[in-house]
Amino acid sequence: MTNSAGSYVEKPKTLAALKSEIASGATKAADLATAYYDRIEAVNPALNVYLSLTKDRAIEQAARIDSLAAKGDALPALAGIPIGIKDVLVMKGAPATAGSKILKGYEPPYDATAVTKLESAGAVLLGKLNCDEFAMGSSNENSAYGPVRNPVDPERVPGGSSGGSAAAVAANLAVASLGTDTGGSIRQPASFCGVVGVLPTWGRVSRYGLIAFASSLDRIGPFAANVRDAATLLTVLAGHDPKDATSSPAPVPDYAAESDKGVSGLRIGVPAEYFAEGLDPEVRAAIEKGIEELKAAGCTIKPISLPHTKYAIPVYYLVATAEASANLARFDGVRYGFRSPASENLAAMYRHSRDEGFGPEVKRRILLGTYALSAGYYDAYYGKAQQVRRLLAEEFLRAFAEVDAIVTPTSPVPAFKLGEKSGDPLSMYLADIYTVTASLAGICGVTVPCGATSSGLPVGMQVLATHLGESTAFRVARAVETAQG
Ligand code: GLN
Repeated sequence: MTNSAGSYVEKPKTLAALKSEIASGATKAADLATAYYDRIEAVNPALNVYLSLTKDRAIEQAARIDSLAAKGDALPALAGIPIGIKDVLVMKGAPATAGSKILKGYEPPYDATAVTKLESAGAVLLGKLNCDEFAMGSSNENSAYGPVRNPVDPERVPGGSSGGSAAAVAANLAVASLGTDTGGSIRQPASFCGVVGVLPTWGRVSRYGLIAFASSLDRIGPFAANVRDAATLLTVLAGHDPKDATSSPAPVPDYAAESDKGVSGLRIGVPAEYFAEGLDPEVRAAIEKGIEELKAAGCTIKPISLPHTKYAIPVYYLVATAEASANLARFDGVRYGFRSPASENLAAMYRHSRDEGFGPEVKRRILLGTYALSAGYYDAYYGKAQQVRRLLAEEFLRAFAEVDAIVTPTSPVPAFKLGEKSGDPLSMYLADIYTVTASLAGICGVTVPCGATSSGLPVGMQVLATHLGESTAFRVARAVETAQG
């Protein structure tokens, strides 16, 4: 099932092409779903992308779409489109593991709002996608169910934590997918696998039904093979949800139409801090070429400075771990999934269930977060981190008074080899350097493929825009994509 280059890369058809085939009856949604399940059966053993399949539900939905098409009814935006869901989002009656042993056997009784919205728009949901345990990681090696392999080069990681979501689209095991991004978990794997990933503004997409990692940072967003399709998906996903009081009531634009508007006259900021020490020279060259192409497309390029960038990693790893330690307190062997059999009394049951159920990275974060929140240390760590977070956010807002978008590399390095960083948490954390800033600031962005290294590893350009500025990010990403040809 590998192609001639020895990779599993295959480009899905565009939404527009699939939609017209389904509407005309040239392709049956049910046949399309079956074809995807056949490919998953053939390729998944090598890549470990799907943790579970939701076949009955998918086939039922596909049949519903086919009968709408047969009647000649107008089809909804994602009619018949096969989509995969990161396994931190719940689907009624389907296993939800969050990549953790502690949730083994848990079947939620409800659907996440993002899942409901996709299905209402006609999407056919194929199954649940592998990820780092509780979305903590940058390589997918922290999944209790084994790592995902990068379809471009199976010896390499797909990135994380939404590695399954990125690999699914890159290997055409789904036309699109949902992931989550707390500190880079959509953008970095998308860049490692050569696909488009969207970080919506915090609050743009309802988090109802998302197994929480760090609530002030968590976002749900789409992966797709091209910018326009990613934009179409965001229009489906975005909007206020009465079940998530933090979801924004701002009107939802037709992002795909917005992305058609071109970039002539846009001002693009290039922050010096994202092109400093530690940036792989081939990644730098690819991004610099992409910036030249934006200039050729009519953008004004403006050097800018974001000096607080150097504090972003420590601030993120304090805020995210503090929130995680609180969010993960609910997993105690009582209500969900795994319970240790070695439990002579209640306290021992909690202790053993958490000890046996959580993996090492999750335990490390619970310990760090609990420490940062503890009496006597709270002000010095968590309190201070919140203050610096504010400074970081204000710095972005000042920059966006002068530029319409900011472009950076998405990751300082291309996809690394499995095992290369897994023994060294600190070097793994440092790989998030270009993505955690936007997470802390709450702003939005898109990562778009922008060239490759000499050995063919994809490079991603991160396009950031201000709060609710998704339309601008999509426009710039489209221009980068167009220039790639
Ligand atoms: N790699 C980062 C972390 O491990 C980001 C994870 C994420 O965005 N979920 O925290």
